[in-house]
Amino acid sequence: MSDNCLFCKIVRGEIPVDKLYEDDEILVFRDIAPQAPVHFLVIPKKHVNSPATLAAEDEQLMGRIMRIGCEIAKQEGIDQFRAVLNNGEQAGQTVFHLHVHILGGRNMSWPPG
Ligand code: 5GP
Ligand code: ZN
Repeated sequence: MSDNCLFCKIVRGEIPVDKLYEDDEILVFRDIAPQAPVHFLVIPKKHVNSPATLAAEDEQLMGRIMRIGCEIAKQEGIDQFRAVLNNGEQAGQTVFHLHVHILGGRNMSWPPG
């Protein structure tokens, strides 16, 4: 837990979100500024700064994050989607608590901008 981290505040229930899934380790909620018809975030409840700061002990947690993200995508009716992990400001990371974006429901272009 990190006192001033936005997503830690969400985990603690201090900021309301549209929650799609929760267990001991993971929280899934809709992005406040959706970039696609379906856009949600999958986060670990424990504070991890960014993908690059994942520890060896987080390997299983990261696997669960991906698997649950795919399950919720199915539940949300998107069997085709994009999963995005931004690492660092240059890549577009604005919240420094690891999160996987899942976006779907529209055509996606490649490469990303
Ligand atoms: P990043 O740019 O770090 O990869 O993604 C952060 C995401 O968090 C953005 O898509 C942004 O819209 C979302 N976000 C920021 N603040 C809030 C909030 O208070 N509630 C929710 N649900 N999403 C947020
Ligand atoms: Zn945090």
